Amino acid sequence: MSSIELRAVEKWFGDVQVIKGVDLAIEEGEFVIFVGPSGCGKSTLLRTIAGLEECSRGEILIEGKNVASEPPAARGLAMVFQSYALYPHMNVRDNMGFGLKTAGKPKAEIEAKVNEAAAALKLEAYLDRRPKELSGGQRQRVAIGRSIVRDPTAFLFDEPLSNLDASLRVEMRYEIAKLHRELATTMIYVTHDQVEAMTLADRIVVLRDGIIEQVGTPRMLYERPDNLFVAQFIGSPK
Ligand code: ADP
Ligand code: MG
Repeated sequence: MSSIELRAVEKWFGDVQVIKGVDLAIEEGEFVIFVGPSGCGKSTLLRTIAGLEECSRGEILIEGKNVASEPPAARGLAMVFQSYALYPHMNVRDNMGFGLKTAGKPKAEIEAKVNEAAAALKLEAYLDRRPKELSGGQRQRVAIGRSIVRDPTAFLFDEPLSNLDASLRVEMRYEIAKLHRELATTMIYVTHDQVEAMTLADRIVVLRDGIIEQVGTPRMLYERPDNLFVAQFIGSPK
């Protein structure tokens, strides 16, 4: 059974069709990257999977169950936002437990979950620190920690590194790769940066104007692009 499966997914904004029938099966633990030019529908597809946009047609299966009509909170997915907006006045422990606290979970359960997440993320030594006392990579881990306490099926990222300068971007790319190896959780990651896609992905989904042009490993897309668009986008000669 796939972790996440899309069947003939369409998204319409009024009478404009932005996602034009997408089929895709993502395995548990896979790192899948959506790439494609600006405006091709990457964010819309990710937001539709997350439930932040209504799915106009088709099915979205998460661990075998069609969630296309379910609200975001019922889907068990964690959307990690670009800015990692952590609460500056709270330490790492409280930042990570905040969602559970708001959901009214008992103190002992929050503490156990936060400790477990901190261990998985190697943040145990930083639980009493404020966000400003952490490196960029650690802050990103705290942001992910806030979701891990809810045991998500997958993490969804929309261009998490696009606002960073070039050297920090390379460092954070390395951090994300490491995190994926450690957690082995399914990740869907959107970027328009070919290098990011080639270095991070188990499989790349090349989108163009709301349809999938090709899906494959970075190597496969590089060596055997199906068409000129994929070849030009991935940067190999054909
Ligand atoms: P990408 O993330 O690949 O740059 P988007 O998914 O943001 O592309 O956008 C795909 C297309 O859908 C664009 O033409 C965009 O203008 C349109 N679009 C996105 N969101 C909305 C919306 N809420 N209402 C109408 N059109 C939208
Ligand atoms: Mg986008």
